[in-house]
Amino acid sequence: MLRAEIVSIGDELTSGQRLDTNSQWLSQRLGEIGVPVVAHVTVADDRAANVEVFRQAVARAEIVIATGGLGPTADDLTREVLAEVAGVPLELDPAQLEHIQRIFSRRQRPMPERNRVQALFPVGSQPIFNPEGTAPGVAMRIPRADGTACHVFALPGVPAEMFQMWAGSVRPALFELGAGQQVLVHHRIKCFGVGESDLEQMLPDLIRRGRVPQVGITVSDATITLRLTAAGLNEAACREQMRSTIDTIHECLSSLVFGEEEDELEDVVLRQLAQAGATLATVEWHTAGLLARSLSRGETASPTFAGGVILRAGDKASAGLTAPVAAAAADLARAIAAYPSGPASEIEAAARRLATAAREAWGTDYALIVGPARVLAGAAGEAGDVPLALATRDRAKARTVSLAGHSALIRPRLAKQALDFLRLAQLNPASLDDSAR
Ligand code: AMP
Ligand code: MG
Repeated sequence: MLRAEIVSIGDELTSGQRLDTNSQWLSQRLGEIGVPVVAHVTVADDRAANVEVFRQAVARAEIVIATGGLGPTADDLTREVLAEVAGVPLELDPAQLEHIQRIFSRRQRPMPERNRVQALFPVGSQPIFNPEGTAPGVAMRIPRADGTACHVFALPGVPAEMFQMWAGSVRPALFELGAGQQVLVHHRIKCFGVGESDLEQMLPDLIRRGRVPQVGITVSDATITLRLTAAGLNEAACREQMRSTIDTIHECLSSLVFGEEEDELEDVVLRQLAQAGATLATVEWHTAGLLARSLSRGETASPTFAGGVILRAGDKASAGLTAPVAAAAADLARAIAAYPSGPASEIEAAARRLATAAREAWGTDYALIVGPARVLAGAAGEAGDVPLALATRDRAKARTVSLAGHSALIRPRLAKQALDFLRLAQLNPASLDDSAR
């Protein structure tokens, strides 16, 4: 099976001034033609480091695609590096020189002498035509010690030129080498509500390496993504290969799964609300407005999210609130002050009353509250308990979540916990408790 390695070259990448987006793009294209990528390597404009990186890549992958380092200046070393790795000299290609000269005369400028180096190629390599730019690419078969060979394709770093040369030359060449006999298809399942190790334990040995289809886990701001990868003759075969694994995941995780692919919690919540023809208002502390902002995604004219109030810890609740909502917010603040520790039931009851007052003030079907924190004795920073409450037209529900972790993570996690609370309540309306209103 063909496997690829991608080498990105440039000081601007290794110094962190520019993000290597070429590797991501190339990996996606390689996946489409069934070629898995074993490594991305990013290397500075340093000759010795480049030689080492290419030697390693040639030894472990059948295909190496490199970008960058093909310009005309002294820091562009890819041509020389490939010649050194292959143990051959560079020679001038007159046809390429002519093409470069033509590009300059089309731009009505004389060709600087320095650009001649772009027509130099390691002996035995082929130029890769660059229709728009002065830097031709280099295609080269480099023999390996075991008698096999590695096929190296060096392309310019300029993304637009690289895209064009991939489609015009590299992709067809890879088909000739046997690529395209399978495709790699990915599918993402999105989960929320538990930690990643707990989630892994709920899945029967699915994350095992080498499993078909492969399943991986990543976490971002408390959203867990299960990434399935299948290899097959075509997309339909890959989807079929993934079907039973997807079913198993849904069976094991049930409502912890909220969506797939690009779905975020707010997309799912907005979809559920829109399907029910329902509207929502919010009152939020501690989130810097993240809840309202995420509910405002997408169509600007969506009637689903009616609006919300954003408050900071310690804000006077009367600001921006109608009298009944302000009174309920003051009542909640009093409950938090009255119960500095112990069970949160009184605080949750006050949070339900606030949600109900907010829903009535807005005239919406739902109101969702992220309450002020009860800072626990001895806790540092913003750590504490936060009441979440949801009111519907005839019922209300509250729960308490803890406010802990890195300060940069607290806000998105809290907003997501509130969205998930609403999502689950909509899935299971019987869980809404009206007795304690
Ligand atoms: P070079 O071919 O090394 O002269 O690079 C030309 C331009 O392409 C520069 O603006 C680079 O920042 C950009 N570039 C080079 N490599 C990459 C990469 N891996 N991802 C994104 N941009 C790149
Ligand atoms: Mg460069």
